[in-house]
Amino acid sequence: MIKKQLFINGEWVEAKKHTPLLSPYTGEVIANVPDATMEEVEFAIEAAYQARNTMAEMPIHQRATILEKLANLLENRAEEAAILISKESAKPLKDAKGEVARTVQTYKFSAEEAKRINGETIPMDAAPGGEGRLAYTVNMPLGVIGAITPFNFPMNLVAHKVGPAIAAGNTVVLKPASQTPLSAYFLAELMEEAGLPPGGLNVITGSGSVVGGKLVTDDRVKKISFTGSPEVGICIRNKANLKPVTLELGSNAAVIIDKDVNIEKIIPRCVTGAFSSQGQVCISLQRIYVHKECYDTFVEKFVTATKNLKVGDPLNLQTDVSALIHRKEVDRALSWIEEAKQKGAKIAIGGTSEGSILHPTVLLEVEKSAKVSCQEVFAPIVLINKVESVEEAIDLVNDSRYGLQAGIYTENIHTAMYASKKLYVGGVLINDIPTFRVDHMPYGGVKESGIGREGVKYAMKDMTELKLVIFNNN
Ligand code: NAP
Repeated sequence: MIKKQLFINGEWVEAKKHTPLLSPYTGEVIANVPDATMEEVEFAIEAAYQARNTMAEMPIHQRATILEKLANLLENRAEEAAILISKESAKPLKDAKGEVARTVQTYKFSAEEAKRINGETIPMDAAPGGEGRLAYTVNMPLGVIGAITPFNFPMNLVAHKVGPAIAAGNTVVLKPASQTPLSAYFLAELMEEAGLPPGGLNVITGSGSVVGGKLVTDDRVKKISFTGSPEVGICIRNKANLKPVTLELGSNAAVIIDKDVNIEKIIPRCVTGAFSSQGQVCISLQRIYVHKECYDTFVEKFVTATKNLKVGDPLNLQTDVSALIHRKEVDRALSWIEEAKQKGAKIAIGGTSEGSILHPTVLLEVEKSAKVSCQEVFAPIVLINKVESVEEAIDLVNDSRYGLQAGIYTENIHTAMYASKKLYVGGVLINDIPTFRVDHMPYGGVKESGIGREGVKYAMKDMTELKLVIFNNN
């Protein structure tokens, strides 16, 4: 049995308490994980605080070299990393491999972006009284970044915080989700090998409210970068006081299918968007609005493709859909399906479970007040509803607490332009599903989907503060 230790100030520290970590798929204990005490969290924050000047003063080329080395180390151990993700989160191995490849990219982008932290010169004499002055801006690291991450992309969403933070000259205290600590400790191991100075990265596992709560309220932590549920995000925002926060939260992402679209061609992509990682993706395709002229064809082909998905062991490379993160999530999802049925929805396929696995489920004619429509479902459930027009579909997409990304398939450029203007979300995808991200693009949402943007360059901007320097030559 693996017994993990905390990673503080460049050392592996024996924790006072441990908690067993269970496999979501088999229910077996796969590791014993530190459950940090307040004293241990204190120790980690202080280590990061003491290391802040070392990191801020480290030449940029050195920060970039450490991140490049980290990316190479991870690439060399990609298989092992993917298995770790798959074991702790039940993510199908093929998806876990994809996550590792993207994590490598995120650290590579961070290494490159470190070299582009540019300020600007300000033409002071554009204002009367500014004559004879030379002014420029510098992007200063903030110091300690508190990173709090979710279970669903345990390696790449950690990278989206750690990579930009280190690139910008900060230190980090990382609190990963309790269900997925192993990939975070794996990162610590690689960071140590890559040569990050002690205190640059500290990894602390334990209860969200204890560890996370302390990071949010401690004055030495200068910023919180959080990815997770809207409920916890709002709670963090309320506690953070003047501390800046980036919140990457949930959604009930949608795609619109216009008439005249080649249905056959888009089905595989729509099925992947709905069911990959068991629908536990913040931009998982949850709502599909199809023009009445192609609705029946779309439903028939979508259901046929869903039938072909392989359900089972996440470590089997053939598996498409495996266990949800906890057994109780299966019960929740089933109760939401039942509620939709009570409100008139029809089950086209699925709606049943087997242990911790919920079978991929397609619902039709779903009432918009049903939870599977208006809340974040975070399970392999998708609804397909018929619409009279793209305008009606846009209104339905926008009628949501969330606004992360939305997609539209259309052959009509005017419709595409119209949709790009009217959809109120952080990102509009024309001729694609909303379930798309590469790691350098700006990514984030409006409304209850969050505050701020990630994507390496954008995250770095929010992890620095601007200082203005003025030389008076008069
Ligand atoms: P979660 O329950 O909100 O947990 C996220 C993190 O917050 C975990 O590390 C958790 O620790 C911690 N936490 C819990 N309570 C806390 C508190 N009171 N103070 C500070 N931290 C606390 O989310 P999840 O279930 O892991 O992840 C799923 C959610 O993440 C979904 O809503 C999904 O849409 C969202 N998500 C958003 C994005 C995006 O980029 N927009 C990406 C991925 C996921 P414990 O695990 O110990 O409870």
